[in-house]
Amino acid sequence: MDKVNILGVKVDKVGIDDAVEKILTFLSGDKCAKIYTPNSEIIMLGYQDSDFLELLNRAELLTADGIGVVKASDILKNPVPERAAGYDIACKLLKKIADTEHKLFLFGGKPGVAEKAAEKIKDTYGVTIAGTRNGYFKPEETDSIVAQINESGADLLFVCLGAPKQEKWIDDNSRKLNVKAAMGVGGSLDVFAGTVERAPEFYCNHGLEWFYRLMKEPWRAKRMLALPKFAITVLVHGRKYKQE
Ligand code: UDP
Repeated sequence: MDKVNILGVKVDKVGIDDAVEKILTFLSGDKCAKIYTPNSEIIMLGYQDSDFLELLNRAELLTADGIGVVKASDILKNPVPERAAGYDIACKLLKKIADTEHKLFLFGGKPGVAEKAAEKIKDTYGVTIAGTRNGYFKPEETDSIVAQINESGADLLFVCLGAPKQEKWIDDNSRKLNVKAAMGVGGSLDVFAGTVERAPEFYCNHGLEWFYRLMKEPWRAKRMLALPKFAITVLVHGRKYKQE
């Protein structure tokens, strides 16, 4: 089995390195691969909204982001090898495409954040940045954003609009995009730019990143209630979904 079915969302059983290898394969493909890293909140959204569930399952790669998803795969006796968070995949991918012909476009974040992230990524990884665009736009500006990305010659796109906005944007526009891979990476641009700190390794390694974020950003508490709700839903209904 290469996927685990968590409440209808078919998550790939890949670790960070496997995910990076898959994305490198997409970069030599001939269409735009869609890559998302669902956490428990996103899986709950899919569980509650069948259109969004189909959208998630249309992705070429879905990795398990967050301790909730990893534990759910254990409960379903079809475990993913490890947590494969968007930021960690992005960092390893950048190392792999350093000093190659690949070009990255950064889309999302508040004005100035993508430019700052671009500087840091260029300096730290030596990756060519094809262009940047902030993530605040009117729906009628979408076509010009797609045109800007296409004209930049980028083959890899990071979309950081927060979930589920970024997944919906990628799904709506993947056919119009010339990039080979579009990845939804949430708040990663803020971390690359240095405007938001990532949780220290201790919290990440002990499944406590949610706790660190709760301390730093207490207004997230309501959103975090999704985690216990998710755990209960998986325990009660999770086994009804067939593990192919
Ligand atoms: N963001 C954006 N456009 C929007 C909404 C959000 O570019 O319309 C950006 C926001 O500035 C932040 C990122 O999306 O950099 C992630 O937001 P959030 O932390 O809320 O999402 P999460 O990573 O928790 O899914």
